[in-house]
Amino acid sequence: MLNFQYYNPTNYVFGKGQIEQLTKLVPAGAKVMLAYGGGSIFKNGIHQQVTEALKGFEIVEFSGIEPNPHFETLMKAVAIIKEQKIDFILAVGGGSVIDGVKFISGAVNYEGDPAEILRKRILITDVSKVIPFGTVLTLPATGSEMNSGAVVTIAETQEKLAFGGSALFPKFSICDPTVIESLPKRQLQNGVVDAYTHVLEQYLTYVHEGFLQDRIAEGILHTLIEIGPKVVDNPSDYALASNFMWSCTMALNGLIQKGVPNDWATHMIGHELTAMYGIDHARTLAVVGPNLYRALFDTKKDKLAQYGRRIFNLNGTDEEVAHEAIEQTVAFFHTMGMQTKLSDYVKDYDHTATTIAKRFEDRGWLGLGERQNVTLEKVKEIVEMSY
Ligand code: NAP
Ligand code: FE
Repeated sequence: MLNFQYYNPTNYVFGKGQIEQLTKLVPAGAKVMLAYGGGSIFKNGIHQQVTEALKGFEIVEFSGIEPNPHFETLMKAVAIIKEQKIDFILAVGGGSVIDGVKFISGAVNYEGDPAEILRKRILITDVSKVIPFGTVLTLPATGSEMNSGAVVTIAETQEKLAFGGSALFPKFSICDPTVIESLPKRQLQNGVVDAYTHVLEQYLTYVHEGFLQDRIAEGILHTLIEIGPKVVDNPSDYALASNFMWSCTMALNGLIQKGVPNDWATHMIGHELTAMYGIDHARTLAVVGPNLYRALFDTKKDKLAQYGRRIFNLNGTDEEVAHEAIEQTVAFFHTMGMQTKLSDYVKDYDHTATTIAKRFEDRGWLGLGERQNVTLEKVKEIVEMSY
């Protein structure tokens, strides 16, 4: 295995009725910014649960953090925090609200133009400079509740950029599986496919000596295949909801990526499709992922064969199993309600491949993936295959 350090300080508070714990988890006497999205938390009662638990705290609400959160919106929260001397942020929402709060947390005391955090991928590592924050997760998918990464879009220039750093772990995350009852089918489907792809980004590289990592990753994949379609139909089934929520967290809380190679090129290309066309994050992954495995078949073949045998019980030569494993993955995405072609979402897509390759070239992203072999030519090929 490769050398690694595993650091994860997030206090993960899981289960029914746990939102009440906010009273104890938010630092006593803190002036709190309660940050959320477009208002789903009013319809499902989570806003009420949170404000009841925070009785006695001084609260400033900040609403309107949009899906794929915008830098421009988040900078408004940064100004309010400075003006009103807020010392704790509570993110109540899905990945977008949590990611947005990570940016706000790091931007408040950043010396320089906060857009640099995104464009220059400045690592945020100084805990004394960030505004501490906790989360109440309302949508299992991203793992953002227990990791220190985030993705923010500069709307003006359509740049969707990842950033992070060890100072950006939530202090705590309250994960109550009953909150998913109110999720629309589309968001449940997205959650399953985002988490599934997170595992593949850390698993589907090459055959290595991270035997335990592979087995944990395979456990999450098996679980998502088993419960994914069911939880979409029965989100109020507590056993399904709780396993779904924990699987999504485990897929991207840093554990399975340690000591093994990581890919992440599917996410990097997918972010561009969201930035250009507003396609849901998970849906871009379902479009890009299978074509990336096809385009990089030669270097991923051995691991694809392991994946095919262990996850889908396939038989045959490595070559046959590896090909079939990609098709089974696509079939699973279809079961989860995904469309897997760009043309299913966008009419005018001919220029997409060259636009993305140009953006990657401008950023110096000349070789992505576990072998840095996702060159600009490969990126173009993958995107064209996705049309
Ligand atoms: P999201 O963008 O946070 O939320 C999608 C929609 O679901 C919003 O309209 C939201 O409404 C609604 N929603 C959330 N909880 C709900 C509930 N309980 N009931 C009803 N509606 C609810 O979705 P997401 O998939 O969690 O996050 C996607 C973002 O995370 C993308 O920007 C993606 O790039 C990023 N991401 C981050 C990581 C990471 O590690 N940090 C990893 C992968 C992806 P409201 O606006 O009203 O809340
Ligand atoms: Fe993701």
